Amino acid sequence: MNGISFDYITEYLNTLIEEDDEGILEMEQYANENNVPIVQKEVANLLKLMITIQKPMRILELGTAIGYSSILMSRSSKFVKEIVTIERNENMAEIARNNMSKFDENKIISIIEGDCLKVLEKLEDKYDMIFIDAGKGHYNEFFPHCLRLLKDSGVIISDNVLFRGMVANNDLLIRRKITIVKRMRTYLMNISKDKNLITTVLPVGDGVAITARRN
Ligand code: SAH
Ligand code: MG
Repeated sequence: MNGISFDYITEYLNTLIEEDDEGILEMEQYANENNVPIVQKEVANLLKLMITIQKPMRILELGTAIGYSSILMSRSSKFVKEIVTIERNENMAEIARNNMSKFDENKIISIIEGDCLKVLEKLEDKYDMIFIDAGKGHYNEFFPHCLRLLKDSGVIISDNVLFRGMVANNDLLIRRKITIVKRMRTYLMNISKDKNLITTVLPVGDGVAITARRN
């Protein structure tokens, strides 16, 4: 049990997802060997589906790591023209740049190195899709900026919102994660109760929230 879904369900669902892109598989292997927390298979597939439906031209990502999800998104639809991704860890950014030189053939991804909050404060152009996948304790601070940077028809996707189930169940909660978990609960409450927004929280991967403006 990952605290979120029964193992047999996750295992079964994963048998339905087939990734045959060599580059993506190579990065998956690297991430597994080096404990880099890339999106799980089911979340990767959800991102691809969302991009196929939404056809975003411009995507903003918080948390690049080795560039796995941004490269995956760049390959999901021909409509994607630009991806900006933010990463504060120099080593990660360097690995991501290498991966991008190999796997981002159309050169649509750019990395901004720095802390998400500092970078977000300076961004002005709007995006069709924003993927929040960095600094689990800081989604509440990132979110107002993400809303400001989101086109009216845009979608915000937040990863790891159930955090190994701890967000939903105190029995799973470990002491050193209490602050993060409390903040995540506040985050989910806020994006769920906001009358101007519609949010669904899915028990997929480590928990994914999808948010749009009501229209
Ligand atoms: N989206 C990636 C995984 C990102 S893992 C993928 O699925 O392939 C989260 C990354 O966010 C880590 O590399 C970490 O260094 C970075 N990070 C964490 N907090 C951050 C912050 N406040 N600003 C910028 N990057 C941050
Ligand atoms: Mg994640």
